[in-house]
Parts: sequence; structure tokens; C-alpha cells
Amino acid sequence: MKAALNYRNALLALGAAAAVIGALWAWAGVSLWWLALPTAAYVATVAYGSARVSSSFFVETKWHGADTRPCIALTFDDGPVPATPALLEILRRHGARATFFCIGRRARQQPEVLRQLDAAGHLLGNHTFTHSYFIDLFSTRRLRAELRDTDAAIEAATGRRPRLFRPPYGVTTPNLARAIRREGHQCIGWSVRSLDTVVQDPTQLLGNMVRALAPGAVFLFHDTSATTAAMLDEFLQQAHARGFRVVPLDELLGVAAYH
Ligand SMILES: [Zn+2]
Repeated sequence: MKAALNYRNALLALGAAAAVIGALWAWAGVSLWWLALPTAAYVATVAYGSARVSSSFFVETKWHGADTRPCIALTFDDGPVPATPALLEILRRHGARATFFCIGRRARQQPEVLRQLDAAGHLLGNHTFTHSYFIDLFSTRRLRAELRDTDAAIEAATGRRPRLFRPPYGVTTPNLARAIRREGHQCIGWSVRSLDTVVQDPTQLLGNMVRALAPGAVFLFHDTSATTAAMLDEFLQQAHARGFRVVPLDELLGVAAYH
């Protein structure tokens, strides 16, 4: 059996190492300073697991489809924003259905855009209500409210209650993991981070994304990125020319998008 690198196992490993060092201290006079070693390894592992959502460190996360079919999925975070309908038009031209991980606060203000997305066959997911910089410090109770309020905004607009959740900044913590489980959401990561909020040149972004095309890939874009809006049409053309099909995330990952 392969032991998963997750929070529980990291804690168990730290406990085991501490017990061994404690025993050596008691019987052989070994310095307790040796405890610094497993402690440092534990801290590094937790930091890695928190920052990397695809590691499933705190909560089981889906981030890649099967690599046996030439299918990819596109995801757009942080909308809806005024630029979202223009993306919709480009996707429509290519018959591509994407997933939009919505910020609840924005979703509540623009139910009409959510209805357009839903009517066009795109999936709607939850990306917290406030997308706060300090979300990693929120209590489980407050995070559950973030998830519930966003679900409610999407449900009020479309009649659908989302199951898919993407953590802001891709950061998970024990509190967020608990909130995700209790609210019955599926945590979603990505395999290709476009960095489209950083890359300013559409040609550069297009090149990066075409090179990243791979069976089962999940692309992370943002509604808010003018760079993505400028290259999306060409990207979809090139993806199709290379034999890739854009499928909805639920199909790529074999998960239910709604409750
Ligand atoms: Zn985000």
C-alpha cells in the first residue's frame, strides 16, 4: 500500500520520529535537539501541502483528467466581471464548454451573467464569497458561510447548487478542508496554471498554453485577464487543430457539478 502524503500521515510521521528521539534521549542520552530535524521536515511538508492544492494534502482534490483521451477542460476564476460575456462569445464560436469558479459577492450582483453562462452550457463553481487575502486565517465557521453564501447566490440565479469548489490562490488549510467537507463540495485544482494575471503579452501566453496542451489537462484562467481574452480564440483554434476536444470539467474528471 502506498502511503499518501497528507496532513494526517505527516502528523503521524512527526509523532513517530518524536517518540523515537524521546526514547533515545531517555535511554541513550541523545540530545533532544535532534527533534528539530523532524519538526523542520514537518513544517516544510505542511507548507508545501498548503500551497499546492493538487497535492490533496488536507482534502481530496481533483486536478487532472484521464490521459487516455485528447480532452482538456478550461476553467475561469474570479468572475463574473463585465468582461465575462465576451469570453462567452469566443467559447460559443468554438462549441467549447468551460467552468466558471465564481466569487459569490460578484455573482450576487450579476445574476443575469450567471444565467447566460448556465444557458450556454457552462458549469458554475464556488470560489468563496469574498476571495479575501486573509481567507487562510478564517475560522471553519466563517469559511462555511463563505461557501454557503456563494452557493446561495448561484442557486438564486440558476436554480443549481454547485458542488465544485476551487480554493482562492490554490491554498488549502485544515479549516478550509473541514468547511469543504461539511458543505459537501468537491475540491478542484488545475494541471496548467496560465499565470494570466501576470503574463501581459497574449502571444507569449498563447505559446505557453499551446505547449501545455496534454490529454486530461485542466487549464486555470481568469475572467479578469485581458491577456486571456486576447488569445482565447487563437488558443481554441490551435487546440482543435492539434486534435484536442474541450469538454466540461464534470465530464473530464467524472464528478457531479451540482447537488
Ligand atoms: Zn481566485
